[in-house]
Amino acid sequence: MKVPFVDLQAQFKALSSEMDRVIADVIQKNAFIGGPYLKEFEKNFASFCGVSHAVGVSNGTDALRLALLGCGVGPGDEVITTPNTFIATAEAIAMIGAQVRFIDVDPETGNIDPKNLKGALTPHTRAIVPVHLYGRPADMSAICQFAQTHRLKVVSDAAQAHGALFQGKPIGQWGDAASFSFYPGKNLGAYGDAGAVVTNSPEVAAQVALLRDHGRTQKYEHKILGFNCRMDGLQAAVLSVKLPHLAEWTRQRQSHTKRYDSLLASTAGIRLVKNRVGAESVAHLYTVLCDDREALRSHLTSRGIETGLHYPIPLHLQPALSSMGFKSGDFPVAEAWAQNILSLPLFPELTEEQLVYVAAALNERVRVC
Ligand SMILES: *Cc1c(COP(=O)(O)O)cnc(C)c1O
Repeated sequence: MKVPFVDLQAQFKALSSEMDRVIADVIQKNAFIGGPYLKEFEKNFASFCGVSHAVGVSNGTDALRLALLGCGVGPGDEVITTPNTFIATAEAIAMIGAQVRFIDVDPETGNIDPKNLKGALTPHTRAIVPVHLYGRPADMSAICQFAQTHRLKVVSDAAQAHGALFQGKPIGQWGDAASFSFYPGKNLGAYGDAGAVVTNSPEVAAQVALLRDHGRTQKYEHKILGFNCRMDGLQAAVLSVKLPHLAEWTRQRQSHTKRYDSLLASTAGIRLVKNRVGAESVAHLYTVLCDDREALRSHLTSRGIETGLHYPIPLHLQPALSSMGFKSGDFPVAEAWAQNILSLPLFPELTEEQLVYVAAALNERVRVC
């Protein structure tokens, strides 16, 4: 049997005639940039996220960058975040001229550990960017409480966490804003690049909308210098077709996650990732921790099972950030995670047969050892 890491074709097949219809409609209406599908998608995505505003943009990296700028974070400010994430989190902070301040992560969840916030605080600290890794919300209650005490902004990198809840409240309602990615492999994926900023603040939403389109107020009038970070009409149409299915896809991901959890609960040599109390994950990735990751990974490959690594090099040890002067041992929990994480196949259409096969392959290897 072959088990792919993700299977985007399965989802496309179910929606292909509807996709053909909206794509033809966008072309017919010449609605290539912005347009009616974008307006509709923004309205519906805001409602899906339980917030008053969503602004569609070019991708998840730009969404985080514009969300930070929209919240007034900029050059000279320090922004606290996690080293256990995709490089885009740090890029977005660096691109606005702010300083990245890493803190180590919680050994159970891999998300930033609020206990470490205090040690990173300086007079220049302006914002915290929690990443809800694998779709599992960070401890937003502790993070937002700390932010309130010290008058910091909280902007979530929710690229992996469409629809996630913390203490029953959607991620977008915690803090000042949240950024989302619609990269094809994310829980809600476009057929290309796209992203969005969500917020309950009309000021932040208006600023992000200005920034994404050259600071434009009218056709020939530019209030501020902005960027070209617009979402294109074809992506908005694709996302509009997919959004009504997202809740059901998420339920399927969550149910696969439960099934993996129970099949792997007593597998020796494997540690399961936990949710913080109060966190409802949207199960973007199913990642386990194991000491002998490379051996386990090649065993699974030999059984036809594709796996992923999210992420094998913590950001503070990335060559791109070497000028920050970090060394091995600076963030030991994040470093241990980078060495031990292994992501197993997970997508809504994953079958029970495939899932049991993956779990059996993991158990089989442990018996062999
Ligand atoms: C995917 C991802 C991003 C970047 O999104 P793009 O749409 O690819 O720019 C940022 N942060 C995290 C945590 C991600 O997983």
